[in-house]
Amino acid sequence: MAESSFLDWPFFEARHRALAKELEAWAAAHLAGNHESNVDEACRQLVREFGKAGWLKHAIGGKAYGAAGENIDTRTLCIIRETLARNSGLADFAFAMQGLGSGAITLFGTEAQKQKYLPRVAEGTFIAAFALSEPGAGSDAAALQCEAAQREGGYELNGEKTLISNGGIADFYVLFARTNDAPGAKGITAFVVDANAPGFEIAERIQIMAPHPLARLKFTKCRIAASQRIGEPGQGFRVAMASLDVFRTSVAAAAVGFARRALNEALRHATSRKMFGQTLADFQLTQGKLAEMATGIDAAALLTYRAAWLRDQGQNVTVEAAMAKMTATETAQGVIDAAVQMLGGRGVVSEEPVEQLYREIRPLRIYEGATEVQQLIVARGIIKRFQESDPSREESKRAGHAETAGDRKR
Ligand SMILES: Cc1cc2nc3c(=O)[nH]c(=O)nc-3n(C[C@H](O)[C@H](O)[C@H](O)COP(=O)(O)OP(=O)(O)OC[C@H]3O[C@@H](n4cnc5c(N)ncnc54)[C@H](O)[C@@H]3O)c2cc1C
Repeated sequence: MAESSFLDWPFFEARHRALAKELEAWAAAHLAGNHESNVDEACRQLVREFGKAGWLKHAIGGKAYGAAGENIDTRTLCIIRETLARNSGLADFAFAMQGLGSGAITLFGTEAQKQKYLPRVAEGTFIAAFALSEPGAGSDAAALQCEAAQREGGYELNGEKTLISNGGIADFYVLFARTNDAPGAKGITAFVVDANAPGFEIAERIQIMAPHPLARLKFTKCRIAASQRIGEPGQGFRVAMASLDVFRTSVAAAAVGFARRALNEALRHATSRKMFGQTLADFQLTQGKLAEMATGIDAAALLTYRAAWLRDQGQNVTVEAAMAKMTATETAQGVIDAAVQMLGGRGVVSEEPVEQLYREIRPLRIYEGATEVQQLIVARGIIKRFQESDPSREESKRAGHAETAGDRKR
């Protein structure tokens, strides 16, 4: 019997297996080179190549705008990210940002916005970005301060955004800004801002441990037309959270891809490295570690593809996606660290695959909701489900009402 693959799991259909095979071959032919010497140009080129090959059709929704389907298929998104991450962290990043950066337009955009932006995102001729975080508002995104004041025919933007992926190379930014005095999440509205809007500038390029285009953005009396608003005024936080809900599971898939690559590198090394008269893989200590790595990866992959499958069935997956993201990113960090250890000195040599993975994985535990934020989402979700389904609580509520009614009568 042939060795089984995760693609044989019941979450997938024949079209997913066919796509995985095709992408694997494409990645082997196109992603072999090292892209890191000029990340901006490497990202632009990757996006163009993804567009030509048709992969970006899966990052947007709406066949009329060049998408593969009316809705984004989460399992396809996850298979693409896992495969790309196994081959190149930068390729995974470039693909993922086309989806996250245009997700709000797919989900809430007007017809004119969809026609203007989505076909170009799918063709790889427009680069997208998602601008939510600010210097004073990261995990607590509802505390954002960037302001959009209503003016004749549109809005005037003033404020800053930071740690914005594709900052500096994007053609447009989906931006979240405060439009009224309502506190927290209620006063936020979403917009799409073209990179050439007057009053918009890249205030600073930010370098991080695994090179990606990243920037702090500044808006000074930046005027945009009213037609650039996405969704209703005051609905921006909902727009942001809905976009993140689609793509959070795919962050888990990328982490699974990084971890699988690390396990392969560890296996290759352990089975060939001679020491003390045998190979490293012959030692039980090594075998125990390899077993933990492989089991952790499968557990993370099962959570990831469960969340993806549930979402494709039309279910709400806020809890399942958070479980997948925190488990997959934390597991991948441990697996990659173990692989570095197994490779010994070679594991920390610059540009060795495991050394690159060690740097690539770290931000995934922070962005699109840090692990601690995912823990809160899971805990709140399961407490709510428990309270809604607990019969004793219903009884005590009824008893409470009866007593109150009785009290009133007395
Ligand atoms: C590589 C990279 C790319 C990014 N790309 C984008 C992008 O494209 N668009 C965008 O808008 N943003 C982006 N970000 C920003 C990212 O979303 C924020 O960094 C993230 O939300 C955390 O916010 P913060 O950095 O302000 O940390 P803080 O919010 O200050 O949190 C610091 C730490 O506190 C802990 N923490 C948070 N909440 C709790 C809690 N309730 N209880 C206990 N501990 C807690 C977590 O460990 C967290 O990491 C990116 C970040 C990175 C690193």
